[in-house]
Amino acid sequence: MGVVACVGAGSGSDGDAGRKPRPDPAATMTNQWAAPGGDHTEQRHSPLSQINASNVRDLGVAWFANLPERGGYQGTPLLVDGKLIVTTPWSKVYAFDAKSGRQLWKYDPKVPRELAGGVLCCNVANRGAAYWNGKIIWATLDGRLVAVNINDGSKVWESQTVDTTKALSITGAPRVGNGIVFIGQAGAEYLQRGYLSGWDAETGRKLWHWWTIPGNPAEGFADQPELEWAAKTWKGEWWKYGGGGTPWDGIVYDPETDLVIFGTGNGSPWPAGLRSPGGGDNLFVASIVALHARTGKYAWHYQTTPMDSFDYDNTSPFTVADLVIGGQKKHVVMQAPKNGLVYVIEAATGKVLSADLTVPGVNWLTGFDEKNNWKPIMNPDADPARTGKSWTVVPSQAHLWYPPAFNPQTGLLYLPTRFNSFTVVVEPDLAKSKQGIVMSGGQPSYAAPDLGTGPRAYLLAWDPVQRKAAWQSAEGSGSNGVLSTAGNLVFQGVGTNLLAFRADTGQKIWTAALGASVAAAFISYSIDGVQYLAGVGTLGGNAGGRVIVFKSGGNVELPPAPPVVQPVLNPPPDFGDAAMLAKGEQKYQQHCTICHEGRNTGGFPNLRTSPYLNSAAAFRAVVLDGALAEAGMLPFPKALNAEDAEAIRAHIVRLANTEGAGGAAGAGGARGSAAGGGRAGVAAGGARAGGSPDAGPRGGASAVDTRPVQQGGMGIFATGAPARAAGPGGQQDEINQIHQ
Ligand code: CA
Repeated sequence: MGVVACVGAGSGSDGDAGRKPRPDPAATMTNQWAAPGGDHTEQRHSPLSQINASNVRDLGVAWFANLPERGGYQGTPLLVDGKLIVTTPWSKVYAFDAKSGRQLWKYDPKVPRELAGGVLCCNVANRGAAYWNGKIIWATLDGRLVAVNINDGSKVWESQTVDTTKALSITGAPRVGNGIVFIGQAGAEYLQRGYLSGWDAETGRKLWHWWTIPGNPAEGFADQPELEWAAKTWKGEWWKYGGGGTPWDGIVYDPETDLVIFGTGNGSPWPAGLRSPGGGDNLFVASIVALHARTGKYAWHYQTTPMDSFDYDNTSPFTVADLVIGGQKKHVVMQAPKNGLVYVIEAATGKVLSADLTVPGVNWLTGFDEKNNWKPIMNPDADPARTGKSWTVVPSQAHLWYPPAFNPQTGLLYLPTRFNSFTVVVEPDLAKSKQGIVMSGGQPSYAAPDLGTGPRAYLLAWDPVQRKAAWQSAEGSGSNGVLSTAGNLVFQGVGTNLLAFRADTGQKIWTAALGASVAAAFISYSIDGVQYLAGVGTLGGNAGGRVIVFKSGGNVELPPAPPVVQPVLNPPPDFGDAAMLAKGEQKYQQHCTICHEGRNTGGFPNLRTSPYLNSAAAFRAVVLDGALAEAGMLPFPKALNAEDAEAIRAHIVRLANTEGAGGAAGAGGARGSAAGGGRAGVAAGGARAGGSPDAGPRGGASAVDTRPVQQGGMGIFATGAPARAAGPGGQQDEINQIHQ
């Protein structure tokens, strides 16, 4: 009889066989935090108000835990059944007793450290786990979904979700709704084709797969009829490039409509004129897409940036809410992506209710065709493929993955916001890269647009009904997630501190030192009548992570963060002949710069200051043998040989000696000095200190590999804008940035 019940219930193998699945704690927001965004709405708003604007000063540390994994801590914790669940670099998961801080279990999915160089760009990061019916479910860097029992961390199921021969990886959190796990992947920078897939949360069985990009029409579109009309928005042989559109972060499951709504990444390669010569909107790159959750069938889409050429991933987090607009209740999904706008869209239909600029100077569009569901009217001058001229686009990465929050009481959406410019230049005969993008040392021959003297990074409180800012605070950050609580509070990490603002006015009312930078958002929960805040961040100097938990009256003293060792220039003398140096420069640009220079730097070291420059054997051990793989430097044994490694070393030594001779800013600063040469605004004493990662590749440039389809030697590359002055959020930008 027990056996019959076990089979009939169809529940998982987590020891609960025979029982009905437990109620979904993410169905509504409670004293737990049972989904990456708190609950399915992803409002990241806790209804708890024990901690409020009048007593927030009483908060102190209840407990903390330092974690050894090095890399990017980008995850929002979960709180279910009294357990605090934290994901770490290399896709590991820890469970703590949320009240005492006692570690309960740890799971290491053993992500292979020897992942081919080029699969990952540019951080060994994980943005969190989901919960379903007694299981913690998350995705690994190498593309697996893993489900473990929340009580003891024992594995329930595991499924590979990507073709491991392709340059695909996962850093985002899965979402679970209606018994289905939804997951995307990253890889649009590597000429890949994105998709969202749905998996049975109990068994890990694949249920469906939805391509974001049409394939070769010759193969037909039987499985996805919408791709037939999507293909009409492409020209040429785009499928040879993959096309991009990888959905690497924002996903929501909306129980009211039973839709899964997600964002797709940039087009691949970046310039639309290369992947789709002759134009076209290129569906479904840079889009919001809704699918029926059970079947994975298309419901609606809205393309935020047609013919994207600016790496305008539309993957920022989504927020579902009920708003009263024009006297009518509207069930909406909201998103503020990289392109500098904030969208309010009917969740059931995809009807755009509003699209508004959140930052000044946006110049890639000139307006909207409101009768055509707010299709953006593209600025024809911002199309280098058409004009053959460079264009400095604003913004660059206005809103990235840092999660926003929405407070239904104030009606405000709290958006980490930043802006800068980003130049796309047409140039012949650029270096090629297997990764599709090369960072090189070029500089635009003209000035970047004047973006004014105001702050370039701030916390923005946006009223989506009035369609205007309620307040903004430059004391807040453009690069850290947000927690909202019913105590009229907004919490955000800034630098290595945690700040609290009044939700209604933006007044900063509390600061606490964390000794770590928390890029993701804090969460709030209550156990035995006591409200807690919890977050996880990166210790300075890439020394690991730290979980920090606050409660009223907490009195645990945080140890000082490990000292950050400032890198110093100490290169050996120049060596190598002209041919070796030329080869070294080419290989460096092809394989190293995407992480170690410019735009995509994710806390990765400035190689000019690397002590490994002083030993050919040590350098080779890192580059070819993986001596620093555990720290996140993956080796390149297939792409490079010993001669290449030595040529790269010679090139970097030359860069370092040039810099040491006064060719650029001080130690650790001024990446890209080879050609960019000591740009104004790059501070000494820290790699791009104070700069925001979106500032573009300072002194760097990116190019697109045209080899796969022989585009005739024409490349297009992006180059940087001046670094902004140091300010709040600068240092953690360096640590947390990930380019996807
Ligand atoms: Ca991208």
